Amino acid sequence: MVHSQEPYEDIELECSECGEPFTFTAKDQKFYEEKDFVKPKRCRGCRAKKKERMKKY
Ligand SMILES: [Zn+2]
Repeated sequence: MVHSQEPYEDIELECSECGEPFTFTAKDQKFYEEKDFVKPKRCRGCRAKKKERMKKY
C-alpha cells in the first residue's frame, strides 16, 4: 500500500451556534491537522456569517 497516512473519515459534528449537524470531511480534517488547527465548532454557514460580521465596517 502506498498510503501510510492515518485513515481520515468524514465525521459529523454539531454546530455550537445553530445546533445543526455538519460534516467535517476527511479532507478538512487533514487540512486542519496539517495547520494544527482545532476542530471547527461551527458549521459552514455560521462560520461564513461570523466572517461577514468581522468584515463589517
Ligand atoms: Zn451553524
